[in-house]
Parts: sequence; structure tokens; C-alpha cells
Amino acid sequence: MDKALKQLIDISRTVGADPALVSGASGNTSVKTDDGRFIYIKASGTPLKDMTSRKGYRKLHLDNAIDIIADTSLLKLDINIVQTVIARRLFKVCDDRFGSTSPPSIELPLHTCLDKYVIHLHPVAVNAYTCSRNGKAKLQKLFEDLPQPALWVSYADPGFNFGQKMSTSVASYKRRFKKLPQIVFMQNHGLIVSANTEKKVLSLARKVIRTCSGGLMKFKKQKTPAIDKKIISIAKKNIRAAILQTTYKNVPVQYFSAPEVFSFMRLQNPKRLLAPGSLTPDEQIYVNGPPVLLRSSQQDNIENAINSWMKKWNTKPLAFILDGIGLFAAASPKQAVTISNVVKNSLFIRQNAARIGQINALNAAQRQYIGMSETDSVKRVLELIEKK
Ligand SMILES: [Zn+2]
Repeated sequence: MDKALKQLIDISRTVGADPALVSGASGNTSVKTDDGRFIYIKASGTPLKDMTSRKGYRKLHLDNAIDIIADTSLLKLDINIVQTVIARRLFKVCDDRFGSTSPPSIELPLHTCLDKYVIHLHPVAVNAYTCSRNGKAKLQKLFEDLPQPALWVSYADPGFNFGQKMSTSVASYKRRFKKLPQIVFMQNHGLIVSANTEKKVLSLARKVIRTCSGGLMKFKKQKTPAIDKKIISIAKKNIRAAILQTTYKNVPVQYFSAPEVFSFMRLQNPKRLLAPGSLTPDEQIYVNGPPVLLRSSQQDNIENAINSWMKKWNTKPLAFILDGIGLFAAASPKQAVTISNVVKNSLFIRQNAARIGQINALNAAQRQYIGMSETDSVKRVLELIEKK
């Protein structure tokens, strides 16, 4: 096996199996070959921890991939098709045996302009800062003793647009410091670390997350109260009926007795913390926005809450917090687990981002871009290619 591929699998499995670094299926990794001709990168659709020599990565001709990403004519394309066009072109410069089954991570552009080893994650401890108006200044202070400063990149739509912004920011960093950045904070998105050895890149990821975690409020470890099963099943039934009434969708509802939700609801003003919209692309993709806060499990109360939530966010809610009872997700059991994890992460980020400074959420245009683009269009192109 190619040395770079072996290292990519090592890094991915190590990072993917460490809950301090990764939650759920988010995050991606890459390693460039010693001769600089190829980049091995995580593929979409396989979690980091499941990468093997047979699945979960792509090998691309690095120069060709860079040319595709740098093609500014792509900026003129409709946002509904830009990722599709890129995916189609990238398949042509893949040098592996996977055909067109799984595209390289849509975050490929942020990997190509950095050092040999790159890890990109969405850690809650880092996002507590990147989703706060004071976050940039606080991070600068936290990491001021580093031999070279961290780079802050302001928000851009994930994928191609962020890649363009990232490569300009890295180029000006390089001009100023005569080096590539090793730590990059992405506003409302996450962390990138990069280094010239496998050991260094892993220790850098851990160090940054540890440092960020240091100053944050953790949810107090407490036992969740035992809730009568009857109360839970009535709430599930009424949430399902209220969703059907308001959105005409008949979806199953799952319950989670999450201690984080109880801690959050005990904060001074949880309603105020849930008022800003999605904080990160993850929250917008998986939950459509902040959870709906319910004060009672009566169906008409739930319907009112859903209607005002939909008026505000212009989409359908997927997560609900019922005060004193817990968290509900309107989805299949598997999807509901993802939703509950993203909500719990968001509650942690909201609490801390507000303490660090004001919460900084995605704006309407940023949310809309995520709703219209990305994964869906890539899925569509795959279906098209596979039909041929
Ligand atoms: Zn990301």
C-alpha cells in the first residue's frame, strides 16, 4: 500500500475513533504524496473511523484538482449545479479504482493549499469561539504564544466558495509570514490543522481543542429525571399530529432523554439562546435551525409553536425541546440520532458563544445557500453518472 494512503487511513481512524475530536460523520482528512503529485483525501459518505484500503478515500492528481478548484468561471454557475459540475470534473482526475461511486469530500479545496497532512473538524470547543462575535479576538489571545499565528478565515459558503476564500487567505499569510499556516479557524464552521508530519498534525488537533475547551462552561454532569413513559408517548403522539397539521408531513417522532438539554433549560434565559438561527452548516443541514421550544405537550400549543418557528425560519422544524421532559426529533430512528447529536452540540456552542461574546449565527443568504446546494446536487450527479 502507498505510504501516503496508509498514513491517511491511520490518521482518519485515530481521529474518527476519538470522541474528543469528532462527533458523528463530520470531518475530513488528507495526505499528499512525497513527490507532490497526488493527494489522498477522505471520500464523502464514509465516516472517518470506517476508512480502509478498500473504502472511504479518493486519490487525485493534485495539480489537476488545484486547476479545477481555481477555475473562477465556476463562480458564474448557478449554485444549484456548481458542486455537481465540480464533482463531475474531479471524478476525471481521480487515480484510483472507485469509478464514480463516491466523490472526494466537497471540502477538498481547503486541503489543497496547505501542508502535506491536513485534518479538518467541526469541534464544539472551537465552534464556541467561531460562532461568537468576540471569538476571533479571544482565539488570538488564547493562541498568542505560538511560534506562528493562527489564521482566521471569515465565513464563506462551504465547498468551492470557501475554498476560493481560503486559498486567497493562505496566499497572503504565506507572503507575510513566509510559511504555510498550521492552524486555521473557520468562522461558524470549524478548525483546520496542517503539518509536515503525521505525528505533528495529530498532536496539533488535540492541542487546539484542549486549549479551546479549557475556558468553556461544561454542562454539569447530572442524572436526568425519570420521566413517566406515558407522558413521553403522549408528547410524541401530539408532536407528530401537530407536524402533520402544520406541514402535511406524517413523520415518526423519537425521544431523547439528554442531560445536556436539562442543563441547558436550567440556564438563565434558554429562549434567548435559541433565538438566533443555525450557527453552522451542520446545524442547517441536519436540523434546519434551532430546536422548537415547547412549554407544554398540548397539540394546539405545539402547532402554534411550529407555525411561529416556520414563519421565522421559512422551513420545517425537525427538533423540539419540551421543557422538563427532553428532546424530540421528527425523523427515522437513525436520522434522529444525528439530529439529537447536532442539537446537543448546538446547545453547548450557544451557551458558550454567548458567554464569550454575542452569538453570531448564519444569515439568511448563508442558510439559503446550504438549503439549495451541496450534498443533494452531488447525489443527483452520482445518480446520473451511475445510470449511464
Ligand atoms: Zn467542514
